[in-house]
This record gives sequence, C-alpha cells and structure tokens, in this order.
Amino acid sequence: MKKIIVCCLFAILCARPALAEAPPAVVETHGIEIEMPRGWTVVDEKGGTTIAPTKYKGRAIEVVEVPKALTKDLVAEVLEGAHVDDVVIKEGQRAGAPLVVGTGTITVKAKKVDVDVLALANAAGHATLLVSFIRGDQDPALRDLNAKLLLSARVAGPKLTLAVEKPHTSGISGVPEDYEQVLGKLVGGLDSWFRLPRSLPVRVRECGVVNAFYNPSDHTISVCHELWDDTVKLFKSAGMTDAKAVELTHGTMTFTFMHEFGHALVGEFGLPITGKGEDAADEIATIVLGFAGDKGPQAALSGAAWFQTMAAKPGAHNVFYDEHSFNDQRVVSITCLLYGSNQARYGKMMTELKIPPKRLERCVFDYRARLEAWDHLLDPHLRKPKKA
Ligand SMILES: [Zn+2]
Repeated sequence: MKKIIVCCLFAILCARPALAEAPPAVVETHGIEIEMPRGWTVVDEKGGTTIAPTKYKGRAIEVVEVPKALTKDLVAEVLEGAHVDDVVIKEGQRAGAPLVVGTGTITVKAKKVDVDVLALANAAGHATLLVSFIRGDQDPALRDLNAKLLLSARVAGPKLTLAVEKPHTSGISGVPEDYEQVLGKLVGGLDSWFRLPRSLPVRVRECGVVNAFYNPSDHTISVCHELWDDTVKLFKSAGMTDAKAVELTHGTMTFTFMHEFGHALVGEFGLPITGKGEDAADEIATIVLGFAGDKGPQAALSGAAWFQTMAAKPGAHNVFYDEHSFNDQRVVSITCLLYGSNQARYGKMMTELKIPPKRLERCVFDYRARLEAWDHLLDPHLRKPKKA
C-alpha cells in the first residue's frame, strides 16, 4: 500500500510507501512528557491534572507538581499525606535522569485501590508525580495502559530536532556545515516557540529526489542534499558567481525548510486551512521569516529569487492543474507579504518587479489579514500563548 506525501516543495508527486505506524501522540504536562494511549486525554481542572480515557468516569492517573527538589523523602511525605498504606519506595534512573517510584494501597469505600507513583525532576527543578490509582476489580486492560503510560514518562525535551545524515553517493555534495548550523538554530528556536504534540525530527539526508518534504505519516521533515546541489547549479546556470549562488542557496534552503515546517504546523496541529495548502505554506514561511531579524526576510527573498529563476528557465512551463501556484505567482506572493510588512523597505523592489499600485494596496491589506489569521490559528499552540 502506498501513501501520497502531499507536501512537497516541487510539483513532483512523491509516492512513497508508508514508513511506519504513526507514533503515539506525546503530551507535555507539568514539565513531563508522556505517550498518550489512543482515546485518552489530559484534563486540567482546579484541583489538579488528570490523565484518563476520555469515556472513563473515574480516576486513572493524577499529575501533581511539588515545587521542591525530587527526593525519596518527598515522595514518602506525599504518600503519607494521602494516607497510603504498605508504602515501598525505590530510587532509579530513566534516560539518565533520576526518578523515584513508590507503591502502596489505599482503601476507598471498603475497596482496596493500588497506588503507583512515578516521580521525575522536571526542567524547573520541581518534582512531578504521576500517581496511578487502580482498583482490584477494574479492567486489567486499564491497569496495563496505566503501567505503559508511566513507563513512557520522561522529562520534557525538544520535539523539533535536527538529524543530519551525510550523503552516501559520490557526486552529491549536499548541504555544507554552515547551513547545518543555521538550520540547527532555526530548529531550536521554533521548538521553543511552538508546543508540538509529538517528536518531529528534521532530517537532512540523501532522498533520491531533488526535493524537501513533510511526511505526515511518520511525522518527519526531510531536507534533501540533492536539493542543495540542484539549487546551487540552478543559480550558477542563471549566470551567478559561485559565491552568489551559494549565498542564495543558503537563503532558499532556509525558506524551503520553513515552507515544509508550515506544512508540518498544519498537519501536526490539524489547522483548518482553506484554499491551496501550498500557498498557505509559503505564506507562513514568509510571515515567520519576516520576524527573524535581517536574515529571515533575506531568506524569503532568496526563495523568491529561486522561483523567479525557475520561471525563467528555458523550457519552463506552468502546469495549470498543479497544487502549487505558478512560480511567477509565488514570487509575487512572497514579495507582496514582505511589502505588506514594511512598505518603506520593499517599495523599490516591488517597483522593479513592476507590481502595480492597486496590487500593492492589496498587499498591505493581505499581510495584515493573514498575520491576524495565522496568529489566531497558532496562538493556542505557542509555548507561551499570548491570550492565555
Ligand atoms: Zn509544499
């Protein structure tokens, strides 16, 4: 069975086998991340946080964050405060981080309830306790899921990560180290900005195609070495010096990554996008890069230069039914948003591109409308939502 990766940079239909079963959603709560069984949710209430099957009317796992350093004594104190009997506490490690586990029982309405505690030190230096309550007569499957969930718990770490695999085919140069460093910084910055629901590795790799793509099946973004080489070649063939071609390729590849990250935001958060998904990806890439100092807008402009060069290629033709807008249109969409964000800075460029005043007026309006729309869509997914 084949699945279609819909989110390619190019108009290439990337049919590939599904790589693997979708990994479980990873949810972060109180500085701890856990793999959620299907159909379970985290409910934050006044009294605390509960993790339970959506349809389950009762307690499954409670999360308690204690603003103290994690110790064996602290866990013993908490269990004692909750009147837990037959307490056994042990210390251990998980993924190099200290943990404390405790077991015991409580009696509720004459029924014995098993209590299992897993305590981890979160990044804030506080102790986060996951407390599982299971009655003897409860479904054994629920007991198993509770145990699995406790086993999956770890200190919350980055979701968006960079993995660079060097090209293995001779003749492919691939991305240089200075681009890897730029991408690494970008990936780190975006991870601290967005609360992604699960791990989303960014793989710089040899793909077998000249492209970059987000794969919603295995939740990865691939940036292909072949695309770097091809982009340098394209700029050189357009008459640019080696240095200029490499400089523009740097920016183009940054824009490309942001375009794929735009697809990933839509896919991972399930954002309701109307209109062309490819235009939406260009849009969010340009808007985000517009806020990234001087180099961000420069990368968006490099992306526009790339589309412009592609459009001018001998024999280039536009496919009217393609899911991507025409290259010339993509140039205008990117530059129009930049102009909308700063008319003084990009006015001359738009004149050179021969964009008429009526369209320029619209660019200003469009930029504001789209910024507001993306702000609205993404705000709930920011690590620090503005409207919390
Ligand atoms: Zn795309």
